[in-house]
Amino acid sequence: MGELSRFWRESDHRYRIMANKCGNCGKVYFPIRDVCPQCHRESIGKMKPLELTGKGEIVSFTIVHEAPPSFVRQRPYTLALIKLDEGPTLTGQIVDTDGSNVEIGKRVRAVFRRIGEDGKSGIIQYGYKFALE
Ligand SMILES: [Zn+2]
Repeated sequence: MGELSRFWRESDHRYRIMANKCGNCGKVYFPIRDVCPQCHRESIGKMKPLELTGKGEIVSFTIVHEAPPSFVRQRPYTLALIKLDEGPTLTGQIVDTDGSNVEIGKRVRAVFRRIGEDGKSGIIQYGYKFALE
């Protein structure tokens, strides 16, 4: 248990979700932008890195029955549009559910999970997904 929890602590640290924030208008961008599309020149040099909490709520969702080959083992799966507390919206998979308890407005948090494996090299890739709070 000790080894496993240490592994997850280190993973959480390594896979932070980084956005950035315009120092002029305060809007948060994820993925990161070099220049704020609203402020243009006024934002140059004022885009500050911001670590997202990974918490937000479900805006819409769909249960996907047809999956690309890399998802075959886990279908069907739930894909949701999530509005993060800091403002940006992003699409992510909701894990640890069969989809029956997923509802618009429910709170979610980012979790880091295995997203695939390179068959040739055996390298396992991790990325963020979301779990109901
Ligand atoms: Zn701006």
